[in-house]
Amino acid sequence: MKLDSLAIHAGDRKKPGSFVPVTTPIYSSSSFFYSDMETLDRVFAGEIPGQNYARYNNPTTNALEEQIAALEGGDFALACASGMAAIYLALQAALTDRRRSVVAGPVLYGATIRLLHEMLEPNGIEVHFADPCDSQEFAAAVSEHKPGCILVETVANPMLRVTPLDTINEIARRHGAAVVVDSTFATPLLVRPLQLGSDLVVHSLTKYLAGHGDVLGGIVVSREEFRPVLQSISRAVGGVLGPFEAYLAMRGVKTFPLRMTRQCANACRVAGWLASHPRIARVHFPGDPQHPDAAIVRRLFPPNMYGAMVSFEVKDAGKEQIFRLVDSLKMIVPATSLGDVHSMILYPPMSSHREISPKHRQRMGIGENFLRLSVGIEAPEDIIEDLDQALGLG
Ligand SMILES: *Cc1c(COP(=O)(O)O)cnc(C)c1O
Repeated sequence: MKLDSLAIHAGDRKKPGSFVPVTTPIYSSSSFFYSDMETLDRVFAGEIPGQNYARYNNPTTNALEEQIAALEGGDFALACASGMAAIYLALQAALTDRRRSVVAGPVLYGATIRLLHEMLEPNGIEVHFADPCDSQEFAAAVSEHKPGCILVETVANPMLRVTPLDTINEIARRHGAAVVVDSTFATPLLVRPLQLGSDLVVHSLTKYLAGHGDVLGGIVVSREEFRPVLQSISRAVGGVLGPFEAYLAMRGVKTFPLRMTRQCANACRVAGWLASHPRIARVHFPGDPQHPDAAIVRRLFPPNMYGAMVSFEVKDAGKEQIFRLVDSLKMIVPATSLGDVHSMILYPPMSSHREISPKHRQRMGIGENFLRLSVGIEAPEDIIEDLDQALGLG
């Protein structure tokens, strides 16, 4: 089946009895039993699939896991309480029985950088950074530090650089490192890292996959060989997704391919319009033929799909002008998240990159005039009209 059909059917409609519900219901039950102890014993032993306790399994959450595993082409998935819980779980699994050292891309989601510095480093795990878009620099860092784990994002926030996953996987294979990919920005519609040889794929379900701004969740997708270690850590730590959240996420995922296709098309329109606007100094968009990673985009992404994030710089604007611009938006939502059906705008110096000094931010290319737009599924004319009137005011 194609991705569009898998999103609707994978994992759903399990038969609990002689009737079949057309969608998986919310199983709000903390534990489960069978008509005989023998069966429950075999479920506990892992000899047969089944339900025993909600920290181990839950039918609603399992349905979501099967759905996402199918989309990513993985053997299984484990849903977590948030994207951050999923990243932590994936890193711990990747480092089990490997060298306790990580080489990561330098431009990561802010909380991920904190996780590396505040949770991993104090526990004796070395953390090094190298630019995955510069494969020579990255290969040299991996060769020098011999990490057990490599961590990259498919599309890095907010400069929207695209990681050459095929090259990174090859470098990792030569050195026996496990590759963890945070693919939240790219989604399985643009790239499927497991099929390129990555080991563990992580998503914040909160963003494109659930897509409606109504649920927080995360998920790790992987191959069979990582199942025992992931399950073991997840069951011990217990940061699993609850059945209500799993239900909302699964409902959202069914329309994810439709939404994302529209969002990608809208983003192309908006990026093109912004690039020709006199008040815009610069647009960062992977669909731009001048984008520094245009060759990687052509190699890894399907034709005409570049994701739905667009970053841009407003000519000669400082914080004050940017605040005025954002305050004048009538439809685009000025809140901290991305990937929802509604368009959203974010000011990185105030939010995602607040903790970084202005000088360091400037070196990363994030000036006081920098905005990040998550393009929604509205009519593209309305998104453009809203930006146009707000740009016209200041
Ligand atoms: C949002 C996000 C996360 C964290 O996900 P939560 O669901 O908020 O915990 C991790 N990585 C990326 C790229 C994100 O956008």
